[in-house]
Amino acid sequence: MTEDIFQGYKGEALEVLKKFKVRVWGQANVETTRGTFEGTVLPRAENDDDKHIVIKIITGYNIGIDIHTITGMKETGYKKASYKIPEKQFPVTPGLPNVKLFGTGGTIASRLDYRTGAVIPAFSPGELYGAVPELADICNLETEKVFAVFSENMGPKQYIALAKAIGKEIKKGIDGIVIGHGTDTLHHTGAALTFMCQNLPVPVVLVGSQRSSDRPSSDAALNLMHAMKAAGQSDIAEVMVCMFGPTSDKYGLLHKGTRVRKMHSSYRSTFRTIGDTPLARITRDEIIPIKEHYNKRRSDRNVKILPYFSNDVTMLYYYPGMKPDVLDAMVDAGYKGVIFVGTGLGHVNKELYPAIERAHAKGVHMFMTLQTIWGYVHMFVYDTGRDMMARGIIPAGNMLPEVAWVKLNWVLGQTNDPEKVKEMMLTPVNDEITLREPYNGYLVYQGGVPEVEDFIRKVYK
Ligand code: ASP
Repeated sequence: MTEDIFQGYKGEALEVLKKFKVRVWGQANVETTRGTFEGTVLPRAENDDDKHIVIKIITGYNIGIDIHTITGMKETGYKKASYKIPEKQFPVTPGLPNVKLFGTGGTIASRLDYRTGAVIPAFSPGELYGAVPELADICNLETEKVFAVFSENMGPKQYIALAKAIGKEIKKGIDGIVIGHGTDTLHHTGAALTFMCQNLPVPVVLVGSQRSSDRPSSDAALNLMHAMKAAGQSDIAEVMVCMFGPTSDKYGLLHKGTRVRKMHSSYRSTFRTIGDTPLARITRDEIIPIKEHYNKRRSDRNVKILPYFSNDVTMLYYYPGMKPDVLDAMVDAGYKGVIFVGTGLGHVNKELYPAIERAHAKGVHMFMTLQTIWGYVHMFVYDTGRDMMARGIIPAGNMLPEVAWVKLNWVLGQTNDPEKVKEMMLTPVNDEITLREPYNGYLVYQGGVPEVEDFIRKVYK
């Protein structure tokens, strides 16, 4: 056996493979003290440890098996995998809408490179067409890789670059824009682009995936198809997020960029509209509106690109017993704005008052949002709320904490005048504050409650 058949394995892990005569890409039964596992032995990356053997099990998940638990291994087959996506010329069909896809990275743009173990982007139109040929029935596609980062690395610079790129495409006459993006901060970008790209004539659809396209349960292809359809064919000219609705692949949902949030770390149905209903439901065949009012597609509208972001705003997630030194430190570090994420109707403890007064005296702009996520800040109900307002904290209605953070950065990128800042913060650009939350905008399934179980049984047969 040559070294190549143990790709990436070294030290103790390599010894185990050699001992049991199992190769990389071999189909193996692995007996361990924790049970038996069956799957394909995957190569390891250059920087990985020598204490694990990684196999892809039948569900598509990769698991690392601690070599010290392995009591036996047997190779039952061998098939070298090829993960290259075939490049095909993306066809241009007259009459179909022209959609631009900006790639920023994230799982949606990725597949696993088994040589290095890293997740790498695959985003040329040819590769996309090779992977999801159905896209050619929906639109004519042009792609551009603007970044190749996981979304935790998106930030002010990237928001500004994206807003400008959107402006350029719209001026060139594109029918719709899709942005492939990691899911972790998709909602931050949704809010940022809503504030930065106003008066949109066409849809701008953010899309991600929770599972990469080399996994059988991947949501990447369907999310892409839905997003392309929303961008090319819907008449909702807003910044939206398009992801799975239910955990199954029955339909996708279109969420407003300012009211959406990632709510589960691994479910494909992770994105939920908060404090409202989603804009629409989408399948491969139709777009079914849920909300009546939205900004309609109109080609004669001129987009306004407002690419501002001060990056001088921080957030303070309150916890009981918080000491004023935290807020003092933020002010001393030079932050010009603080978004409080308070308890209940919007509270922090009295111990913080002197620090709040000090921040206010230094001209720091302070807004209150809620840990409850759903509902409105009400600072008139209790003394503590009134005390905080007297010290300069402004209630931010039902604006989501992350949205308030994005918006205050966007506002402070344009003005530092307290009255103007307050006015801009409290004047909604696109429903980041709403007058009321509809009864069906708050829906939490709680298993174990008979009426909910009945309902779920009816819907999920
Ligand atoms: N961490 C990844 C990201 O947000 C996860 C994903 O793409 O869904 O970029």
